[in-house]
Amino acid sequence: MDFDVITIFPDFFAGPFAHGIVSQAQKRGLINVRIHDLREFTTDRHKTVDDRPFGGGAGMVLKPEPLFRAIRAIQGRNEKSSRKVILFTPQGRRFDQSMAFEFSKLEQAILICGRYEGVDERVTEHLVDAELSIGDYVLSGGELPACVFIDAVTRLLPGVLNNSSSTVNESFSRLETSQMPDANYVLDCPHYTRPESFEGMRVPEVLLCGDHGRVERWRRKKALEKTLKNRPDLLEYAALSDEDKQLLE
Ligand code: SAM
Repeated sequence: MDFDVITIFPDFFAGPFAHGIVSQAQKRGLINVRIHDLREFTTDRHKTVDDRPFGGGAGMVLKPEPLFRAIRAIQGRNEKSSRKVILFTPQGRRFDQSMAFEFSKLEQAILICGRYEGVDERVTEHLVDAELSIGDYVLSGGELPACVFIDAVTRLLPGVLNNSSSTVNESFSRLETSQMPDANYVLDCPHYTRPESFEGMRVPEVLLCGDHGRVERWRRKKALEKTLKNRPDLLEYAALSDEDKQLLE
């Protein structure tokens, strides 16, 4: 999958993509991340990307011309049969795991990072396929949301994680291939590793018993407990078995 990121701060991305799964996926040729400096698509001497808002008000707005030029240039470079232009904005639909899964089917995502008050609305109306928010708070720019998007989508691409089942049981997982539709919208269970006892805090005995069935039942119970405690709103959408409902009660 190709990710083309349009930003006024191209250096921002040197760190986030140099580590872990996204870095490995790039090295293995499973994804391409290309960073485009919006200023390179300006035509004036000062490389102007923003201007004052019509109608007055505080803050600057990213001008339409450089963004139109950037997106058209990126689209013109190759013929991808499935691609989308995505704008990060607090006014967008809230990005979640099921959206990440849908976007992971694309061949190319062109990501626009806003700054200041945002981008000229004509860009949104005429070029953007999806407006995405990463949460109900306001950040200074779309660069962090772009990193979040690329990370979340990359880990769902075939071949990126060694053990594909590791995404199936993760929090929010609702992969269409999942044989566990009732896993939807339930958070992940707690995890433990060595040592068995740390400063008197012991790993739950059930995880040491070797009985796979017991371990799986315990994990489901703990996942439900965590969801009830931290995100009870999710349980409204979760397909719960009778046993799950009993455990919740
Ligand atoms: N005036 C905008 C508003 O109130 O909706 C806020 C603009 S914000 C200061 C600047 C840029 O940061 C936005 O254009 C967007 O690209 C990005 N941004 C900020 N918060 C975001 C969020 N929660 N999700 C996605 N992008 C966000």
